Amino acid sequence: MGLNGKIALVTGGAQGIGLAIAKRLAGDGAHVVLADIQLEAAEKSSEEIKSLGGLASAKRLDVTDLKEIQSVFDSISKEHKPVDILVNNAGITRDGLLVRMKESDWDAVLSTNLKGCFLCTQQATKQMMKQRSGSIVNIASIVGVMGNFGQANYSAAKAGLIGLTKTTAREVASRGVTANAVAPGFIDTEMTQKLDEKVRNAMLEQIPLGKFGSPEDVADSVAFLVSDQAKYITGQVININGGMLM
Ligand code: NDP
Repeated sequence: MGLNGKIALVTGGAQGIGLAIAKRLAGDGAHVVLADIQLEAAEKSSEEIKSLGGLASAKRLDVTDLKEIQSVFDSISKEHKPVDILVNNAGITRDGLLVRMKESDWDAVLSTNLKGCFLCTQQATKQMMKQRSGSIVNIASIVGVMGNFGQANYSAAKAGLIGLTKTTAREVASRGVTANAVAPGFIDTEMTQKLDEKVRNAMLEQIPLGKFGSPEDVADSVAFLVSDQAKYITGQVININGGMLM
C-alpha cells in the first residue's frame, strides 16, 4: 500500500485504460479522483472501486475547459489535500486521411489530447512544486513515435505529449516532482474496438507477442512510475506495445 495518504487524479478515468489505472492506484492505497467528461460513468466506476475496498470519488471534468480544471483542482484541495499524482489520460480520436482531414477534427484531437494535458499539468505543478513532491504520468501512444495511417492529428498530439513530458520533467525536477510518459501500443478498449476488423488483424500481425495489450498492462507501468521505486526516474517514455516498436 505504497500510495497510502496520496491523492491521485486520473483524467478520462471513467472507463478503459483510465479506469484500470484508477483501480490499480486505489489498490495501492491512493484516494483516486476519476475526472471525466462522462460524470455518470465516472460515478459508477468510483462506486465500483469503493465496493472493492478502495478510496475513490468522481468529478465532471472536460480537460479542454480551463475554468473547469481550476475548479476541480480547487475542490480536491478543499475536500482532501492538493493532488500528489496526476495521470493525463483523457484522449479522443477523429481519424481520417491527412488530405481529407477536417480542420475541426484536427483541432478537437489537439485540444483534448495535448492542450488538455498542458492545462492540467500547469494546475498540478503549481501545487506540487509548493509541496516539493508529486508525480505526473502522461498517456502518449506508439503512434506518437511511429506515425499511423489516418491519424495525422492523433499522432501529432501524442508526439507533442512526449516533448511536453520532457520539458515538464526538466522544469519541475528541482522541486522534487517527476514527469514521465507511457506509450501504449494497441490496447483492447472501446477506442480500438471501433477499428475495422481488417485493420485490427493487420495490427496484430505486427505485434511480436501476438495479442493486443490489456488496460491493466498499462496500469502496471503507471503504478510503477508513481511509486517510490521510481523516484529517480523522470523525463522517460515507457513503451508498452508487445514488441511492436523496438
Ligand atoms: P476510452 O475512449 O475508452 O476512454 C477515454 C475516456 O476519456 C472516456 O471516458 C472519454 O469520454 C473521456 N474523455 C474524452 N474527452 C474528454 C475530455 N475532454 N475531458 C475529460 N475526459 C474526456 O479510451 P482508452 O481508454 O482507450 O484510452 C485512454 C488513453 O490512452 C487515451 O489518451 C488514448 O489516446 C491512450 N491510448 C490508447 C490506446 C489504445 O489502444 N486503446 C493506445 C495508446 C494510447 P467519451 O467516451 O465521451 O469520449
